[in-house]
Amino acid sequence: MTKSKKQVFNRRGFMGLAGLTVSSIAFPLTPLKEETDNGSVPMASSRAAVSYRTLREGNVFFDGEKVVVTAYKAMRFFKKEFSHHFNKMRIYRMECPDFKFGTDYGEYFPALDYKQAELIFHDKMQPLLDSKFHFEDKTVQLGTTYCYWMASAEGEPEGPLAVRVRDPEVWWNYDKVRSKVESLGKKYPSLVKVSEIGLTTHKRPYVGLNVGKGKKCIALVGAVHAGEAGPEIITYVLEKLLENHQDLLKKVSLVVIPSANPDMRDRLVRGNPWYLRRNPNMVDINRNFPADWDSVDATYGYSTDDPQSNTYRGMYPGSENETTAIIGFIKKHKPKLLLSYHCLASIAGETFAGSKEALQNPAFMERCNTYARMFWGAMDYRDAKQEKIYFMCTAGSIPTWGYKELDMPAFDLEAPFDPADLAQCKQDHTDQVLLKKYQEKHLKGIVALLKGIDAEKK
Ligand SMILES: [Zn+2]
Repeated sequence: MTKSKKQVFNRRGFMGLAGLTVSSIAFPLTPLKEETDNGSVPMASSRAAVSYRTLREGNVFFDGEKVVVTAYKAMRFFKKEFSHHFNKMRIYRMECPDFKFGTDYGEYFPALDYKQAELIFHDKMQPLLDSKFHFEDKTVQLGTTYCYWMASAEGEPEGPLAVRVRDPEVWWNYDKVRSKVESLGKKYPSLVKVSEIGLTTHKRPYVGLNVGKGKKCIALVGAVHAGEAGPEIITYVLEKLLENHQDLLKKVSLVVIPSANPDMRDRLVRGNPWYLRRNPNMVDINRNFPADWDSVDATYGYSTDDPQSNTYRGMYPGSENETTAIIGFIKKHKPKLLLSYHCLASIAGETFAGSKEALQNPAFMERCNTYARMFWGAMDYRDAKQEKIYFMCTAGSIPTWGYKELDMPAFDLEAPFDPADLAQCKQDHTDQVLLKKYQEKHLKGIVALLKGIDAEKK
């Protein structure tokens, strides 16, 4: 029973970074005094200490510089009589080099055993308000996934809790995206307008931008799926367009949502080790659009009508704050085309995916192909075999919505053509060098699209 209980708590511990439960007390129902003929006497202290499980709630996150591990005592253990259990706290840590982003999920971690971990702290830890333990690990390495266990003076440690230490320059959180776009607005007030176009699920302002003065425009949408690409590439492109291509922006402008699922992206920035896709309501925003929403799809082995699936479409079309904000903003500006950034770990490549519904409409497919060819034509690395649009996007997706509702070519940007780059981002090994390469690629591709749209007759 103890074993199954431990497994349950471990599972709960991995369901998200907010309010993690490290574990509970192993035998909370065991009396701490034993009844004897002579009345109650204290239990042998060794037995109490060995069986005693200290920490009730815990949390682990990366704050941009260090990993923080915290845990709370249960109320009853505030009492002085238990204080000796907390004389020396222990923190164990283990690196998890073979954990694969997007392949393994939470089940990888519970199988790990603290006995193989390193004891990185064994000392007195003063609890805050006599209840909360707080440990800072400043010796972590960027790009490494760790498991932590926490323990009192004796007994089995609680854990593991997993965290991935991601480069904050490669994974931008909400605040960073917002401050970057606001600084562009301040630097180029006549060309950049930053707006709050709605609210995120967590009720934070949802950021949209208008860049340029042209009547015709292109739309860019970043990181609808939290673990994928967007703000880091898009913001770089905007910065460089404003530095070097203002003439072009006066002819064709951009409407931009740099980070379309920022609540969940922040969890990844804070160290959630495995791939996250949906919004905080566990809805896949890219299945929630009012475009054939009723038809159930089973791509990737997930059913869109299953609330537990990673591609859950939501309660009704447009049920999510993020979806309605995107719809309102895009409809208002009527772009010529839309690029939505996907793939993995801040990198999207040259692969274009369009709505599978468009396969019924050769004229629309040709419009899509014209734009994709403009983009590919600007690339240094060309691959004729890969230069084709995959018309595979499903019901409820942005590309299908673009086609059905707005007669607008809209694409999910997916894998890099270069297999080595794809392998690197798929494993969450994107570094600043790889990111820079794709920032430059997309800058070239978008300049080509702006020029191509400018040259169009209408
Ligand atoms: Zn995606």
